[in-house]
Amino acid sequence: MERSYVIKPELGKAYPKISHGKGIYLYDQDGKEYIDGCGGAVTASIGHGVQEIADAMVEQARQVSFAYRSHFSSDAVEQLGAKLAEWAPGSLNWTFFVSSGSEATETAQKIAIQYWQEKGYERKNRIISRWMSYHGITMGALSMSGHVMRRKRFTSLLADYPAISAPYVYRKPDELSIEEYAHKRADELEVAIRRIGKENIAAFIAEPVIGASGGALVAPAGYFERIREICDRNEILFIADEVMTGMGRTGKPFGINHWNVVPDLMALGKGMSAGYTPMAAAMATDEIIETITKGSGLIMAGHTYSANPQSAATSLAVVRYMEENNLVEKAAVHGEYLLAQLKQIVADYEMVGDARGLGMLTGLEFVKNKETKESFAASVGVGTRVLQRAFAKGLIIYPAMSGADGLVSDSIIVAPPLTITRDEIDRLLGILRAAIEEVQAELK
Ligand code: PLP
Repeated sequence: MERSYVIKPELGKAYPKISHGKGIYLYDQDGKEYIDGCGGAVTASIGHGVQEIADAMVEQARQVSFAYRSHFSSDAVEQLGAKLAEWAPGSLNWTFFVSSGSEATETAQKIAIQYWQEKGYERKNRIISRWMSYHGITMGALSMSGHVMRRKRFTSLLADYPAISAPYVYRKPDELSIEEYAHKRADELEVAIRRIGKENIAAFIAEPVIGASGGALVAPAGYFERIREICDRNEILFIADEVMTGMGRTGKPFGINHWNVVPDLMALGKGMSAGYTPMAAAMATDEIIETITKGSGLIMAGHTYSANPQSAATSLAVVRYMEENNLVEKAAVHGEYLLAQLKQIVADYEMVGDARGLGMLTGLEFVKNKETKESFAASVGVGTRVLQRAFAKGLIIYPAMSGADGLVSDSIIVAPPLTITRDEIDRLLGILRAAIEEVQAELK
């Protein structure tokens, strides 16, 4: 084996080398074909190898790739900002560009804290989040994240932010109606605020559909409306982490559009540039930006690559491509078909307990006992086994934490490019079924 000095996710493991990609397919250097059933990390939402994006990238590179945001703006970044303002709900008109989802959630966190400072509330600086959540890997973002596997090593260094439970409809107590359950979970926020004191809290952050920490867990109807109401009553900002759910992934422009709610801040990433370049953003309302403009006039955040013309032109081309090809609408239509087929998988296999999702962000949860919903022991590694079988057969899917305590990796996310056709969905599901079948037989 050729010597490597690159630090890989699993040290010591040999990874296939990527050669090229086209549409929903990726090809390694040995010529093996893979269906990208999760767009990598729910990122490649327009598919691979799109010529229009390559052309836009080359054109921008010929003009200028990098100019620092403290010195210049650019047509690309201005047009992208205007486009995002068109896409976003309410008065979320303002975009702070960064390069990763973690930077986006941390920037949103900082803007929320700064907003209250500018209004004279120096102590309103803690963020409430949910245990089933993932908001990023950097220390600030990790402080807001409940993903235990990713945060545990660093717990003593993280900001001591409070967390509440997220709704988990599959595991809802039978005696509660969906509405009662939605309110019960949302009301945990109210209790947390009373315990800590609203004078100490800047914002509440949540993913509209929980990704890596839940396996496409969709909040019940009424949940986010109640959350919004609690935030307003207590003068706390609501940050929607749309890094995974944004830019059409769920069949609407943003995940939160499925509820009758407008957040104060949104974090975007992944689908914003669909993997063609690192690009992410924090979006804020008129009220927030006007307050800071009238105050210090300077948002205390930013990175070297923030708002660079090369990434902006690439992301702009991606967003235009999505519009020209009606990909948000397609995600809704094909997502419905995909979810119906996943529900059929639940009916067909003993070890598949639940199928859920919105649009093209869907998940399956594996259980040891379908009746009791008992999870497999973590040591069985069911989710990982399915992922490995699928990968060997040429299908890439994404792992997620779930289970009765949210601590086992027993869910998978199926989130292919929004460009996928119905035939391709069937092909993807054929391989997924074969992988599940093998693991189920192995566990007998
Ligand atoms: N927020 C959510 C909801 C995510 O799913 C992720 C990544 O998976 C992040 C934030 C962090 O994004 P990144 O990995 O680009 O830093």
